Amino acid sequence: MPKIAMTTPIVEMDGDEMTRVLWRMIKDTLILPYIELKTDYYDLGLLSRNETEDKITAAAAEANLRLGVGVKCATITPNKQRMEEYPQLTQMWKSPNGTIRAILDGTVFRTPIILDSIKPAVRSWEKPITIARHAYGDVYSGVEFFADEPGSASLVFRGRSGAETIIPMQSNDCPAVWRGMHNKESSITSFARACFQYAIATKQDLWFSTKDTISKVYDGYFKDVFEREFESAYKQKFDELGLTYFYTLIDDAVARVMRSGGGFIWALKNYDGDVMSDMVSTAFGSLAMMTSVLVSPNGQFEFEAAHGTVTRHYYRYLKGEQTSTNPMATIFAWTGALKKRGELDGLAELSGFGERLERACLATLNDGIMTKDLALLAERRVNVRAVSTQGFLDEAKSRLESERR
Ligand code: NAP
Ligand code: MG
Repeated sequence: MPKIAMTTPIVEMDGDEMTRVLWRMIKDTLILPYIELKTDYYDLGLLSRNETEDKITAAAAEANLRLGVGVKCATITPNKQRMEEYPQLTQMWKSPNGTIRAILDGTVFRTPIILDSIKPAVRSWEKPITIARHAYGDVYSGVEFFADEPGSASLVFRGRSGAETIIPMQSNDCPAVWRGMHNKESSITSFARACFQYAIATKQDLWFSTKDTISKVYDGYFKDVFEREFESAYKQKFDELGLTYFYTLIDDAVARVMRSGGGFIWALKNYDGDVMSDMVSTAFGSLAMMTSVLVSPNGQFEFEAAHGTVTRHYYRYLKGEQTSTNPMATIFAWTGALKKRGELDGLAELSGFGERLERACLATLNDGIMTKDLALLAERRVNVRAVSTQGFLDEAKSRLESERR
């Protein structure tokens, strides 16, 4: 069989530890034998970021902007402990994901991969629920203060024009905690646009929820921006595709989500998204089955697994042990990128390959062949065989090939 051709390269961002090992295994076993792979390669491994003073991360993100589609391996975000582990580090480099998100001005969408043999904790959920978390501002860039005496506080805004607005917050007769926070019109607009774009791209309804009955100005502003963007730029396309944009209060949304069958995107403000994404991912099964895609307001896509570099497995791998690290989310990052590249370049064969590979992996799991993390979660009625990572990839490969024939 001739290999499938590509026209535009995919931006390939390599990473660290166990996922770097997985990256190589996935490419060798499931991609390179079938595709004349064209990538624009960036090594975002920690040491390469250190050697380039992290310029390589920005370069990769710029390439993703230019070429439209990227796929990223998990990477180490250094902390104090990593600084000791890698004494050659000249700085505690920032999170690559944060840098890429800032350059793409993007929103992260997380979707679980679901299968018959692993039932979500919420029985009604039959289709995945995708969480879109706004990743700028609010409490994450707020200022806080504990006052150990009674007193009052005001919010003071000084405009560039010189105009000053003073809003009294509260007068307390006891010690108190205080906070000020903000969000930006530009960031909220980009968030709204990325959500509408992704809903259209994946043909799913979009839900958005805040607490605008209590936070009439702040959350009300989020609600208004979404409404404005929808009415002015996306309503027609939603109507054509039969999609719905649905705004509701966050507590009502939580109740409805729990009763729903899934199959939609739920957009959330920064804190709400932080909390709800962990709840939804846990209820669907495993972090190793969560895919993640960063979408820019202009429709550029960066695909990745939601999990990290799986450090504990890496140290076992270094000792020569066979590991049973789940490669699903990383494989689906690749298939996501191949399908999107195929769609943008009009290469049906490339997109078709992405779909076939996904089906082969799901068929493998549904046959009970899975890595250890999933074997522990699977329904007892399924005959489960726990395999190593390479064992899983080989089984998926044989299913991919038998479908080809
Ligand atoms: P992690 O790598 O996601 O791993 C946490 C634990 O979850 C693992 O120890 C493992 O549990 C389980 N797990 C995660 N992915 C798995 C998989 N594919 N197959 C099987 N089990 C899996 O998170 P972490 O330990 O908090 O972080 C490790 C490093 O990753 C850190 O340096 C962090 O900076 C980085 N990180 C990167 C990204 C990213 O690039 N997007 C995201 C998060 C974290 P058991 O050990 O119990 O088997
Ligand atoms: Mg969280």
